[in-house]
Amino acid sequence: MTPHISSRLPEVGTTIFTVMSQLATQHGAINLGQGFPDFDSDPRLHALVTEAMRAGHNQYAPMTGIPALREAIAAKVQRSYGHAYDPNTEITVTAGATQALLTAILCAVHPGDEVIVLEPVYDSYVPAIRLAGGRAVPVALNPADYSVPWDRVRAAITPRTRMIMLNSPHNPSGAVFSAADLDALEAIVHDTSILIVSDEVYEHIIFDGLEHQSVARRPALAERSFVVSSFGKTFHVTGWKIGYCCAPAVLSAEFRKVHQFNVFSVSTPMQHALAGFLRDPAPYETLPAFYQAKRDRFRSALAGSRFRLLPCPGTYFQVVDYSAISDESEEAFARRLTVELKVAAIPVAAFYDKPVERRVVRFCFAKKDETLDLATARLRTL
Ligand code: PMP
Ligand code: GLN
Repeated sequence: MTPHISSRLPEVGTTIFTVMSQLATQHGAINLGQGFPDFDSDPRLHALVTEAMRAGHNQYAPMTGIPALREAIAAKVQRSYGHAYDPNTEITVTAGATQALLTAILCAVHPGDEVIVLEPVYDSYVPAIRLAGGRAVPVALNPADYSVPWDRVRAAITPRTRMIMLNSPHNPSGAVFSAADLDALEAIVHDTSILIVSDEVYEHIIFDGLEHQSVARRPALAERSFVVSSFGKTFHVTGWKIGYCCAPAVLSAEFRKVHQFNVFSVSTPMQHALAGFLRDPAPYETLPAFYQAKRDRFRSALAGSRFRLLPCPGTYFQVVDYSAISDESEEAFARRLTVELKVAAIPVAAFYDKPVERRVVRFCFAKKDETLDLATARLRTL
């Protein structure tokens, strides 16, 4: 008989992204649910992978990432945010942002520690905190615009608070931090031993001339932060699962202790390809304009519909209010959209520990123009 294991994550099932993608496939729906592009990445990037494989870069990479990639990341971060991370001691290449987030939490959070998260919250954070034995302390973002209620964050701090987890541009709402948010954060953590995990995977998907407010811009924040990003979002390669974590040397040393026994190292030819591709800043510096055109196409196609479009200053997600169409729960509505209208969406309620129903669903607009046109034509019929 198979022995019973006592679950470390008893309340966790299959993620909403997997569930909705499976439902979309099953019903032949256009998948605007799970966040990934339906167009291909740059052929120059593919050529660089082939070149790296042919050049024999097929064995283990160094545990922390190949030097050329860590140097290229350091140059990109310095160019973008003005902070000089040491590629040798402060940058680690990871198997996507998910692994970087888990590793940062596992290396720093002890049983009984509290970690403040902002809801709606990306689905991996709370389970990762629980795996470390920590307790997630959710603080709700302001319902009107998903901005951070910093006074409530301050009020949630106790002597057990070990970490605050942040995400800007924010999945699922698209909200982005302003410089005033970083001011507020600085004031809150000043004179505390609170660490920050800043999930910046959508750093280059930000619109209307706004600048991404990385915590790396502020020395007083960078000195206590694990800054996490992912090439999946930036270069349209979500399936490659390569990202990185930048953190001061003392934090990176602990991060690496966990990283080396978690994955040890990350795909070697992909690292060589990304190191080469990063020499040109154009692909990430032109990303805002590329996705802004898709956002605008999607929004203007839905402008006359019964969906109410919430602001979308960043990410490749558009949240819509469907209360003029239906009073179903978010999950029921998202399922009906998928099964009957054949357009998959994600219920925003899935981003809460205890689901909050606000009649809003999330669509991903990282899609070919023809996919967006087909989907919005269907959505306009409601
Ligand atoms: N954080 C956020 C906010 C995300 O949206 C995602 C994925 N879409 C991740 C982390 C995970 O990134 P990766 O695929 O690189 O693990
Ligand atoms: N981050 C993607 C999203 O928000 C999904 C990634 C996943 O399926 N884990 O849709």
